[in-house]
Amino acid sequence: LALSGCSGSDRGGETPDEGGESAAAGFEDGAKIGVALPQKTSENWVLAENLFNDGLTEAGYDPIVQFANGGVSEQQNQIQAMIEQGVKVLVVGAIDGSQLGSQLEAAESAGIPVIAYDRLLQNTDAVDVYEAFDNFHVGELQGQALLEGLAERKGEGPYNIELIAGSPDDANSKPFFDGAISILQPKIDDGTLVVKSGQVTQQQAATQGWEAENAQNRMDTILSGSYKDDDLHGVLSPNDTLARAALTSAKQAGKDVPVITGQDSEVESVKSIMAGVQYSTIYKDTRQLVQATIDAVDAYKAGEEPTVTDTETYDNGVKVVPANLLEPVIVTEENAADVYAGDPTLEDLTM
Ligand code: BGC
Repeated sequence: LALSGCSGSDRGGETPDEGGESAAAGFEDGAKIGVALPQKTSENWVLAENLFNDGLTEAGYDPIVQFANGGVSEQQNQIQAMIEQGVKVLVVGAIDGSQLGSQLEAAESAGIPVIAYDRLLQNTDAVDVYEAFDNFHVGELQGQALLEGLAERKGEGPYNIELIAGSPDDANSKPFFDGAISILQPKIDDGTLVVKSGQVTQQQAATQGWEAENAQNRMDTILSGSYKDDDLHGVLSPNDTLARAALTSAKQAGKDVPVITGQDSEVESVKSIMAGVQYSTIYKDTRQLVQATIDAVDAYKAGEEPTVTDTETYDNGVKVVPANLLEPVIVTEENAADVYAGDPTLEDLTM
């Protein structure tokens, strides 16, 4: 039976198959909603905290929003406690999406729908929907920006570049890296791009915990080992925090500013872009992602399934998780004013 309001099947939105057991039975106004967030490794998570508290309260729910700055076991305990407190939906931004199996099973047994927020939950069937920006496309945009920036700022190639990847326990790190490599690999193969350190795999380029210090230390080692007599022209960085760390490293090594990518539109990086230093970032409007997630909560409240845009891509090892993917936007100095128009935190930085 078709759900009401879902008749337009050719407009991008689809409803996941209705054959399986429905996580949703509907629930009352004022219900508790649990939101488990990871560590504050970038500004998007900090923004999400307030947006969830305000947005869920405004929509008539009773939010419980928690960070797990102490790590995976703290997040496991928080989720367990949320279930015991009777949350009706669980929203999880995982530190390590493959370490929450038993907590998510407990949620499923209690009939609580689970929404993977921004990061996929892996190796479990106890996840109902994934709300995120298109992670692979983020990587593609970063790869394209790096090539454009090199041509714009560094003259003719070949160009020496280095690669930075995100934390290996974050499911997003692979699509970010793979998306970028899908663009860069042909240029590595034809000699336009040279990775002098030889560190070209996601594992070699990884940054444990998304920590700036780890990226900076790795970059220091690479610069002193492989760039004594050579310039570093570009760096693929998966986010802004790590981009700033790599820029610090290059500066301390006395190198010219490399063309560097980023992600998250963090205030310091947007300032840096406007000052002509960092080359690019990605805009993933947290307000949009939190709203999409609250819309999914509303669907469960009504006993319906949330709208999704992709039912094929996000295989978590046990099931293909229906995903609602939002569009990330590449930002450089050139389009920043347009992209950030109307964003209360960022708009003023481009004037
Ligand atoms: C998010 C990025 C963020 C990173 C570090 C990822 O899962 O998608 O936006 O930069 O975590 O916090």
